[in-house]
Amino acid sequence: MEFRKLPGVDKILTHKLLAKAVKSYPHDLLVSVIREQLEAERANIAGSKAGASLDEIAKTALNRLEAMLKPSLRRVINAAGVILHTNLGRAPMSREALAAMEEAGRGYTNLEIDMESGGRGSRHVHVESLLCRLTGAGAAIVVNNNAAAVLLGLTALARRKKVIVSRGQAVEIGGGFRIPDVLRQSGAKLIEVGTTNCTYAQDFEQAIDEQTAALMRVHSSNFRLVGFTSEVTLEELVEIEKRHNLMVFDDLGSGSLLDTAAFGLAPEPMVQQSVKAGATLTFFSGDKLLGGPQAGIIVGEKQYIDKLKKHPLARAMRIDKTRLAGLAVTLIHYLKGEATLKIPVWQMIAAPLQGIEKRAQTWAKALGDDAKVVDGETMIGGGSLPGGSLPTKLVAIGGGSKKVQSVSRKLRLREVPVIGRIDKDVLLLDPRTVQPQEDELVINALSSIRESQDKNQNSNIKSQRHR
Ligand SMILES: *Cc1c(COP(=O)(O)O)cnc(C)c1O
Repeated sequence: MEFRKLPGVDKILTHKLLAKAVKSYPHDLLVSVIREQLEAERANIAGSKAGASLDEIAKTALNRLEAMLKPSLRRVINAAGVILHTNLGRAPMSREALAAMEEAGRGYTNLEIDMESGGRGSRHVHVESLLCRLTGAGAAIVVNNNAAAVLLGLTALARRKKVIVSRGQAVEIGGGFRIPDVLRQSGAKLIEVGTTNCTYAQDFEQAIDEQTAALMRVHSSNFRLVGFTSEVTLEELVEIEKRHNLMVFDDLGSGSLLDTAAFGLAPEPMVQQSVKAGATLTFFSGDKLLGGPQAGIIVGEKQYIDKLKKHPLARAMRIDKTRLAGLAVTLIHYLKGEATLKIPVWQMIAAPLQGIEKRAQTWAKALGDDAKVVDGETMIGGGSLPGGSLPTKLVAIGGGSKKVQSVSRKLRLREVPVIGRIDKDVLLLDPRTVQPQEDELVINALSSIRESQDKNQNSNIKSQRHR
């Protein structure tokens, strides 16, 4: 019955609400969106909901179209207090790195041209010498991400051979991805030794046979073993490897070029230390503590890196020109000694508490009585510094679960969403993970919530008077 009352596609197309869209967009796109909307209407009617009017259908079809034409991947403000928040896209990049990426993307580049001879060059040269200089390694290669880097290293050098790893380091890195599964994909035979909490040098030593290619360390980057524990140091692994003529692979996860202890944090293994200790290959991410674009970086001994460069998988995992451009500029920040001034991740880590408190107070004032400034902690996240955190000042918004959920939702649905974190029915906003130039957007968001609350309150008072 109701089905027959639904307007046809042509009728909806002539509705005045859609006049502009009809002029601007391809006919086929509009027709397909309207058909989808009519399909949804039919489902509503079948579910015995009332059928929508022509106006309503035109309006919802237009909303559907507009939502489709807006990229779903958008900028958000990270007030959640996790610097390397994987779900929020990890490291924000320096202005200079972004400018280089834009320039590389806008036109052509000397990506694989040797400017001297005019002949074919290698894309690796644009970051290799920078990485070698910064880490002390003999050679380097960069691929799509660190998981790919590890997969490439093991496939090229340990396929059908054994790689020995401590049981306590066979970890899951989040999102259900387990390091041992990635390692096994390479075709290497993973030999786990020791126990969950204790692994000793002799465990490695005893597992070595003629099939063994490498000993591997995986930085347990997102959890911490406490209590009665023992792990084999990289130096010990190198010492064993030398006696047996093997390789040592060191997956640092985040890997840092700066000493985190200088910022009051727990020490995170540094890439330079890994190279110096004698790791054959060291693996780390571009977008964790390095503060650059997504990338997987491998530094190490030239003869092995050369094999990786020639392996077919390297082609399947290669990094593009824009990210190479951004990575090079990020590395140059370190060379110039300006990482803490230019790279947002390090600016956040180095930000003094006083400045953060001041910003928190300004934010709190924008929301009014429901917000107060409290002590808190910023997490580093992104699989670095397990349990490591920095003192911070948080804006705490209370008022009960319902209210907190509502404020959190309003902030999330802004044109530029503001993402906080909820802890025990209190919404917490951390200025440390927000770049100061974004403060205005946060303050506007909080002010507008305050205004809407004031309005609600006023109308409540009015309606009470009327009664
Ligand atoms: C994060 C992490 C990886 C994966 O790095 P991606 O760059 O995300 O691919 C691998 N190993 C460890 C130990 C990590 O922490």
